[in-house]
Amino acid sequence: MPFVKCSVDGCSKKLQPLSKLDPRDRETWVHRECDRCFRPACEKHSIEIDGWIICDRCRRELEGEKPPAPVLDLGLDRLS
Ligand SMILES: [Zn+2]
Ligand SMILES: [Zn+2]
Repeated sequence: MPFVKCSVDGCSKKLQPLSKLDPRDRETWVHRECDRCFRPACEKHSIEIDGWIICDRCRRELEGEKPPAPVLDLGLDRLS
């Protein structure tokens, strides 16, 4: 059974449906997704701005001029 997963920054968190119009038909389930690129994003990798959900990928694009904030530093650099 395919799961809807967040794919931001290599994240593979399975997303729980926000609502199920028809519980038997997965096509109708609504998941948290970015309102800009329409790709699924978990709560950790998306923020809500004025009622819009924007994933981190798009947020970085929108804030392209600013240097990336080190909020999501999970120590991945040190693992290499
Ligand atoms: Zn996006
Ligand atoms: Zn995520």
